[in-house]
Order: sequence, then C-alpha cells, then structure tokens
Amino acid sequence: MIGALSQLSVNWSPTAPLSAARAPKSEPKITPDGVELSLPAIDPEPLPQVSMKIDLEQFRVKPGEDIDLTRISTAPPEGVPTSKADSERLLEAMHKKISELQRRLFSENQRSVLFVCQGMDASGKGGTFKDVFAPLMLKTEEGIERASFNVPTKLEADHDFLWRITGEMPRKGNIGMFDRGHYEDIVEVRVANLAPEEVWSARYDQVKDFEKQRGDLGTKMVKIFLHIGKDEQKLRLEERRDTPHKQYKFNAGDVARREQWDEYQEAYSDVLTRTSTEQAPWYVVPADDKEARNLIIASILLKTLQEMDPQYPKLPDDLARLQIQ
Ligand code: AMP
Ligand code: MG
Repeated sequence: MIGALSQLSVNWSPTAPLSAARAPKSEPKITPDGVELSLPAIDPEPLPQVSMKIDLEQFRVKPGEDIDLTRISTAPPEGVPTSKADSERLLEAMHKKISELQRRLFSENQRSVLFVCQGMDASGKGGTFKDVFAPLMLKTEEGIERASFNVPTKLEADHDFLWRITGEMPRKGNIGMFDRGHYEDIVEVRVANLAPEEVWSARYDQVKDFEKQRGDLGTKMVKIFLHIGKDEQKLRLEERRDTPHKQYKFNAGDVARREQWDEYQEAYSDVLTRTSTEQAPWYVVPADDKEARNLIIASILLKTLQEMDPQYPKLPDDLARLQIQ
C-alpha cells in the first residue's frame, strides 16, 4: 500500500532544545570530598534552517520485485542533509513526532510494531537501535524492546527455527527492534551450508506464513535491510579492530564472513525478492552514511505509525464520572 505519507518533509525550528552535540564540553571533577562541575554560560547563535525530503517508496521492495543488491546504491539518497549536525537536529524533530504516535500506541495497548533489522556485519544494526529506537524509551523504561539473535543455543536448536523468534515478539503497545532475526535461518544457514537446500528454501514460505499470522494478530512487521558497501565495511571493521572502545565488537568471524561477501549479497537478494509483502514489507536502506540511515529508518517508523493510526482509548463512562474528593 502506498500510504498518504510516502513523502516525508521535516523542517526544524530553532526553538527546539539544544542537542547534546552543542552542549558545553566541561567534565565533572572527582575530588576526595565529592564532585565538582561547572558549565560555561552559552549564548547560542541562531541556527540556520535545515530541511529534508525523503521519498520512502524508492527503498520499499514491492512484492515479487526482482532484487539484485549489487545494483542498488549504498550511498545516501538525495534530499537528506550532508552535515552531521543538521541531521541530528532533523532526527530530534522526527523523534518528537514519532513519540506522539508512540504514546497513543502504548495507551491503546492492542497492537505492536516490530522492525526486523538484517545486514552484513558492521552494517549498523546496533547503531540503529541506539540512535533511532533507544531514544524513544518511555520514562518508565517501557515502550521499546530489543532482541538480538546469535548462533542458536542447544535449547534453541532443539526447537523449530521460529520458536525463539516467537518468544521475543514485542508486547502490545510496544515498538520492538530485532538485531538479526528469522532471516538468519535462511541466509546464514544457506551461505555457511548449515543445512541442505530443501530445509532453508522451504523457509521463504514459512516466514511469510508466520509474518502473515503475526500481522493478523496485531504485530505490524517491517523488515529493514541495512545495505552497506564492501569498502565501507572494511573501514568499519578496521575501526573496530583499532579503536579500544570498539574492540569488544570485533571478531574473526566478521572477517571470515566478509570473504563470502558475494554469496551473502546473493542470498539476501533472494530473500528480498521472495519475502516482501504488503503486510510485512522489506526496505533496502542505504547504510554507508549513518546519519542518513537514521533519518530514513525514523521516517519509515513514522510512516508506519501514522498508517496504523493508534488512538487513545476512551475512558469508560463510570470512570469518567468518578468523583474525586
Ligand atoms: P553478532 O550480531 O555480531 O553478535 O553475531 C551474531 C552471529 O550469529 C552472526 O554471525 C549470525 O550470522 C549468527 N547467527 C544468528 N542466527 C543464526 C542462526 N539461526 N544460524 C546460524 N547463525 C546464526
Ligand atoms: Mg558482528
């Protein structure tokens, strides 16, 4: 379905709060007696207008469309700013609008949203959660859920492949984000040759049936393929290897899988071609630029919520008439 909101435009006004990026950089000083911190006064200059216009239909995989990832750009599209500061201001404004709809979804407490994020190692699945989804966490630490999927444990492998997925579906009212998901059981199993073809190829239809049933039961699923280029992955893996606070994310498996880059691109192309539906669409998001990626995914989330049109529940009459002494 092409929603009324397939084009998104956002203008940021200088009345929005200062983003953390512009806050003063002073640090707390720890003394034997306690902690001291002082921040200089700030007198911000007016910020210039910044705008974006993103056509989301260009990223959506139409059901049955033949996808060849090697022909799809990983570079940021037209219409998004190139400066990080401008993108952050726009994302902040997007988050405000998304939060309004998210509060309705949470209050309505009937349906949920699930973004299934797949992509090569270092394609930005973790960063997407941190930048796009985590800031939407409600004050009560509700509203947002995340699950990630690793090589199946003994217990998981003793069940069918959808068992662990079912256990992580977001609660009613919540927005969930999967860092990898049931598509590992097609792509990884195929490329790493973990099961015969008849096993993984039967899963195209099995995931479609599963997603249809979950959709009918109230979970709106959107699938995101974070599309990075091979050169960009090399830079990110090198950065992980060489930066102390990123080294915990670096492992030899990432480098080994990179050697099968072409097989992964082909396996993902087949998944995108065969499992995008109107109800649970795939979007191929160009992910070489992290800020553009964030703005595109936030835009898809906003469009998804807008189309769901969640409503605050009506207070029952007896409660509405309740006298408070
Ligand atoms: P990471 O996301 O970097 O923590 O890595 C998780 C690893 O688990 C990746 O190499 C995935 O391909 C792998 N993985 C996740 N699910 C499966 C699965 N069902 N079968 C095989 N490998 C999997
Ligand atoms: Mg990894």
